[in-house]
Amino acid sequence: MLVTMNEILADAKKNKYAVGLFNTLNTEMIRGVIAAAEEAKSPVIIGTAEVLLPHSSLQYLAPQLVSMAKNASVPVAVHYDHGLTEEKCKEALSLGFSSLMFDGSLSEPEENVRRTKDMVAYAHALGVSVEGEIGHVGDNEGAEEASGAAADDRYTTVKEAVDFVAATGVDALAIAIGTAHGAYKQPPKLDFVRLTEIAAAVDVPLVLHGGSGVDEASFKKAIECGISKVNIFTDLTVAAENAMKTAVSEGKSYLAAKADMEEAVKQATLTKMRLFGSVGKA
Ligand SMILES: [Zn+2]
Repeated sequence: MLVTMNEILADAKKNKYAVGLFNTLNTEMIRGVIAAAEEAKSPVIIGTAEVLLPHSSLQYLAPQLVSMAKNASVPVAVHYDHGLTEEKCKEALSLGFSSLMFDGSLSEPEENVRRTKDMVAYAHALGVSVEGEIGHVGDNEGAEEASGAAADDRYTTVKEAVDFVAATGVDALAIAIGTAHGAYKQPPKLDFVRLTEIAAAVDVPLVLHGGSGVDEASFKKAIECGISKVNIFTDLTVAAENAMKTAVSEGKSYLAAKADMEEAVKQATLTKMRLFGSVGKA
């Protein structure tokens, strides 16, 4: 069933588990993620990001995401990730997305507050929940799930987080505590002290971007310390790519390779759902 991000994250925050946002750009990925959620009886947030649109098209991806969400046996929020322009965010909402991240983190802080607040008002009028970002989660070199910026992490401070949530009315908050988008050369070190302080100071669920490549122990600790949503993209593409390479080396047909890629995305998603503790929560 299609739900908003709020309907999913309220329980996650209360019961200290996290729900993955799995970004997708084609049928194999969408089917793999939804199949994982149904098998695991897990709520799920599925979506696509503005920087991925050159590889796909919002207009054609949206109907697929929304109809699969509506027909799923578990709660599914359809999320537009890293909306960088008001125009594209509004287009996503007109196409039926139930959840949105407006990313003004590249603007000056006051400008970020103003633009996020306006987007929240627009989205809330349509019953759509909104995630904002204060501080800035940068990119690893060659990152695909990119925010459009260079590797220039700006860690979120407690005061910034408190002021931003109060001023904008966001439903969830992405914070910068040491992760980056894309594939890591070395595992990131997360600032758990900062995370714990922010979680104690704000009421809304907190979001960890750049989740692909974070080690298991760090994920568990981050969720214990207050992360309720984790964004994953790169791990799914790596799983699909490995399945594709194996299928080619084994001389499989296109249809068999497609099925293998879908299964690989499903298994990678299941691994994350188990780690995040969302299995059986639907
Ligand atoms: Zn991100």
